[in-house]
Parts: sequence; structure tokens; C-alpha cells
Amino acid sequence: MAPRTAPAVSANAAAVNSTFDRELEERFLRYVRLDTQSDEKSTTSPSTEKQFHLLRLLADELKAIGAEDVRLTGYGAVLATIPAMHQADGPTIALLAHVDTAPQFSGTDVKPIVHRRYRGDEIVLPDAPGVMLSPELFPYLATKVGEDIVTASGTTLLGADDKAGVAIVMTVAHHLLQNLNLPHGRIRIAFTPDEEIGRGVHPDLPEDLNADIAYTLDGADLGEIIYETFSADRADVHVQGVAIHPGHAKDKLVNALHMAAKIVDTLPHITLTPETTSGREGFIHLYEMSGTAAAANLKFILRDFELDGLREHGELLQQVCAALQAGEPRAPITCTITKQYRNMRYWLEDDMRPVELARDACRRLGIAPISPPIRGGTDGSRLTEQGVPTPNLFTGMQNIHGPQEWVSIQDMARATFVCIELVKLWSSATRETAVAHHTDERKAPLDAEVPPDWSG
Ligand SMILES: [Zn+2]
Repeated sequence: MAPRTAPAVSANAAAVNSTFDRELEERFLRYVRLDTQSDEKSTTSPSTEKQFHLLRLLADELKAIGAEDVRLTGYGAVLATIPAMHQADGPTIALLAHVDTAPQFSGTDVKPIVHRRYRGDEIVLPDAPGVMLSPELFPYLATKVGEDIVTASGTTLLGADDKAGVAIVMTVAHHLLQNLNLPHGRIRIAFTPDEEIGRGVHPDLPEDLNADIAYTLDGADLGEIIYETFSADRADVHVQGVAIHPGHAKDKLVNALHMAAKIVDTLPHITLTPETTSGREGFIHLYEMSGTAAAANLKFILRDFELDGLREHGELLQQVCAALQAGEPRAPITCTITKQYRNMRYWLEDDMRPVELARDACRRLGIAPISPPIRGGTDGSRLTEQGVPTPNLFTGMQNIHGPQEWVSIQDMARATFVCIELVKLWSSATRETAVAHHTDERKAPLDAEVPPDWSG
């Protein structure tokens, strides 16, 4: 492709109607129309065949804009390279976005609607007139007056999570490949499947990605640079009751369901649950319970920002099981705790440059950077653990996983500018000083490959 004059990246980038708006909108509207819902019950990778529709399209588009080494892996990741420009020694930076949408809400036949130059009033979705978007309910919407807001029509999610990220990464790639004067190191592009079911980082991805630093474009509000996530364990409790015909059960039957119910009842209800905690508080969350009088299973996720807290939640659950066991030795109770993922801060605080440079990029564009800790994990949690520090950057997506999902095209444009500024900033960094790897207890490897559960 012939190089073209670069649109100026300046402090005005945060203003509306940037040079990227139309490209972002055109890409975004096309991508959200493709159903790419992932399926946690599937055992294949990617979990659903339909994700390939968008993955193949993105591979073709990357080739068309001149990206190199474009490859669609068997596990459903599209990878590509933008060669270094006037800077060969710097670290390789990767930009990632995920193509799948959440299993919780329909992503079939998405009809995106552009509410151009939003006036600040209520937005009614035509296919579900009861579903309303109002600036009173969603204060962030009130800050978007004058911008182009995209919603779905009321019966599906929009899929801004994470097709806003996909459109941003594609637009950044296109811009870098068109503007050969812009200095940057080697850039890797990755579109991944199955993030919503916690399987976005295939075991081969870190090596296939072959990058020093990565950023996921999967954050929400303007200026978000996320580098603190939960640390996460899973706990599986099994109660083996004593089964016997109820007619002959006197003094013999031990009902596993009653035992399971006692465990749940003994655990704290008004503290330490997701519905009673916020901010930096952790929790013990029972998310599945099944069984018969003969045997019962309880599935928990344990979450905390600090490992001490996480350990305490696990110990509390084990103590509750042990106390029940002491009262009923005939019914064996086991409580197995498995590591899921760890707060990426434990690694990033060794070298905060991936975060600091992203903050600098925001500030240069007049955007105030914010770093709220997020009560969940991202693909970046797993990538960071595996040696590729991966903070998460804003895209503008709001009210994700439901019919009220929306995004501002101008927020997506701001994220595009931030990425371009960021790769420029990295171009003057040296690779030697890039992230030092220390070992400490918090960074102990996972016991086994357990799919993390981002729903927590
Ligand atoms: Zn997402």
C-alpha cells in the first residue's frame, strides 16, 4: 500500500470527530454483525466454530492492509506482524483483542444502531421498548453528549466487548502500515477466541505471540490502564453421604445434601460474598451446587487482591468443612483448592514501564489515566504470569454482556490515538532493561492447567 500522510496526533486527539472515527465505525459495525459467541460447555478450541467467521475475516483484512506473517492458528488466534520502522532494537509490543462475545446473552443477529451526535436524552431500543439507556442511570453516558453512540436493538448484546478492541487494533495496524515515517519497534497483532470463558490464552499463545510486552484492548472507561486484577483460586467440595433405602434408613443414612446445605449455611452470608463486597475486598462465592442424598458437590471461586486474603478465604472454607466432618465422621468431606490466576500487579511492579508509558501516552493526548483494580481477570493475567506483561487498556465499552451495552465511536478513536502514541513511546525504550523477572511466592506457577473463570 502507498504511504499516505499521517493524520496529526496531537492534544486534539481527545476531541470528537477525529480522522479515525469513520474507519472505526465501519469496522465495528461489520464485526458486531457476526455472531461469535463462545460456549463454556464446548471442549474444542476455539469453543465455537462460528468464531472462525470473524477470525478468517480479520486474517484477510490484515493481509489486505499489508501486515506480515499473518497466520490463523488451529486454536483460533489470528497473529500478524507489523515490522519495525526506523527502530530495530526496541522491545516487541503486542496489541490484543478477543473476538468472542459472552455466553450469558444472545449475540445472534446483532443489529447495531448509531445514535449520531448524542443529545443527552434517553435512548430507547426499538426491539425492546422497555430497555432504556439514560444518563441518569448510566452517568458515563452523560459525558458523551455530541458523540456517536452505538447500541444494539434491544434483543441482543452489542458485542463492543470486545469488538471495540478488535476495531481499534485493526485501525492502529492500518495506520502504522500506511505511515512509514512513524518510528516504532516490531509490533505483533493478536485476535484471540474464548476470552469470555477464560480460555483466551492457549498454552501455545505466549510463544506464538513472541512479544516482550503486550496490551489487551478490553477495558472500559476513558483513560483506564488496568494492571491490578484479582488473584483467583477455585475450591471443589465433595460430600460423600451414606446412601440407603429411606425405609431402612434409621440411624444409617447420612444425607449428603443436608451436609452440603450446612456447609453453605455456616459460611459468612453478610460478608465475604460477591453481593456484599466491593473495591479491594475479596470473597468466597458458591456458584454451583449439585448432588443427591448419596453425594453432593459444591463449587466455589475464591477471590482477593492479596495472597494472604486469598489464603484466608480458602482456610475458612476448609475449617467449615473440617468442623462439619468432626460432627459427622461417617460422611467423608473433601475440599480441594486449585490455583486459577494471579494479580498481574505482582509481576508489573518489578517494572512499571508498561503501565507508565501507557499513562504518558494518555497524558500527551489530554486524557487523565486511571487504574482502578478490577474484580476479575483478563487474558492479560495469564499472559503476564507467563512472562509477557500485559496491562489492559480502555476501549469505551459500557454495560457489557447485556442488551444495554453501548460504546462511543469517539472513545474508540481516543483509544486508537493512545495506542499509536504508546508504540511511539516504546520505540525509544531499550529491550535490555525490559521487564526483569524475579521469583517470589506470589508468582509460583499454577498447579495444573485450570481454565480460569473470569465470571468472578
Ligand atoms: Zn472482554
